[in-house]
Amino acid sequence: MSTTAPGRLFSIDRATCTAVDDADPLGRFRDRFTLPEGVIYLDGNSLGALPRDTPAHMQRVITEEWGTGLIRSWNDAGWFDKPRVIGDRIAPLIGAAPGEVVLGDSTSASVFQAAVAAVRLRPGRRVVVSERGNFPTDLYVLESVQTLLGGEEPLGRRLIADDGPTLDDVLDDDVAVVVLTHVDYRTGRMYDMADVTRRVHAAGALMVWDLCHSVGAVPVDLNGAGADFAVGCTYKYLNGGPGSPSFIWVAERHQSSARPALTGWHGHASPFDFEVDYAPAAGIGRFRVGTPQLLSMSALETSLQIWSEVDMAQVREKSLRLTELFISLVDTRLARWGVEVVTPRESSKRGSQVSLRLADGYAIMQALIERGVIGDFRAPDLVRFGFTPLYVSHTDVWDAVAVLEDILETGVWRDARFSRRGAVT
Ligand SMILES: *Cc1c(COP(=O)(O)O)cnc(C)c1O
Repeated sequence: MSTTAPGRLFSIDRATCTAVDDADPLGRFRDRFTLPEGVIYLDGNSLGALPRDTPAHMQRVITEEWGTGLIRSWNDAGWFDKPRVIGDRIAPLIGAAPGEVVLGDSTSASVFQAAVAAVRLRPGRRVVVSERGNFPTDLYVLESVQTLLGGEEPLGRRLIADDGPTLDDVLDDDVAVVVLTHVDYRTGRMYDMADVTRRVHAAGALMVWDLCHSVGAVPVDLNGAGADFAVGCTYKYLNGGPGSPSFIWVAERHQSSARPALTGWHGHASPFDFEVDYAPAAGIGRFRVGTPQLLSMSALETSLQIWSEVDMAQVREKSLRLTELFISLVDTRLARWGVEVVTPRESSKRGSQVSLRLADGYAIMQALIERGVIGDFRAPDLVRFGFTPLYVSHTDVWDAVAVLEDILETGVWRDARFSRRGAVT
């Protein structure tokens, strides 16, 4: 199968896809997830699928650790240490060392923790840099950081964008921190982490990476890139379940000098001494805040068992095959409706999703979902398809494009019921 040369004629059919699936080394992981019959799930970049073992594990944590163990489980079941123990299991997926990752609250809160700590490590510098197209919560949180740390005047903000200004345009010795999302949530474009980090450091600033669309999607090497801070979601590609906690990574070299924004008791050097004054825990533990979400963490624990068996190089290889196949099929079968691929075609610049620009994308996506092909829509005109190599097959990609082609051809999406909007798109 050759799907790598855009524009060149290639021969692929459904049987070829199925044959590739039969030889897929990651194919065996599909059975580790429960997906509803008749659904092609292309939204694992928003909410990962349910691992088959999660309900039983959570049931055990609820009935045994909570129901029977009660308060004793803080010690007996290791509850207190879970945020660090689970952090250590995420570490290999992001190129982190043991003791550098801790489970947090939500990604929004973790962005705040990381950005405040980073700005404080660069006293005297009064500008934060991010990207206009960044996930809005990152920008909203940065506004708070600008106000809170600015003194009489808020810190300045410079936003880079695809059509300029570029990173090099905005970097100078006023910049304290650069906060960027590694894989863009809208377009799937991926930054060269090492290159960007190097340029940020050359300007004397610190680098905070948001890995929400990277962890479990692409290999990440934070220490290899020399980054400073990172945060990420666990409910997307990692399949930790709705509301599963975020993580925060702090490079070992910063841990003793970095001061978290939120100084809660679980980040205290000795939380059970109940001292009057705050003293930060040694190491990454100081980035904890309060009581961890143990039931959510138990769900995440189950999915991380799967991830511990997965080779990220295989995930990347299959992810690129799936996204290339999808792009090729869109090019050959959907071009006549003016469907535009907005995700980079160059594989080194692509995460694990493909976004299409489609006028009436919202209604078209609703029609797709009714037919069992679940992706999502991002205003104003993008439909997104996430390719999660542990449970999406080449045949799924083929079938999804066939359904989309049918919907465009019949125009069924014009029906009024597909244009009604829920609160969440
Ligand atoms: C999904 C996502 C978030 C989500 O933040 P929450 O606080 O978990 O709601 C933040 N940043 C990026 C880049 C995301 O993709």
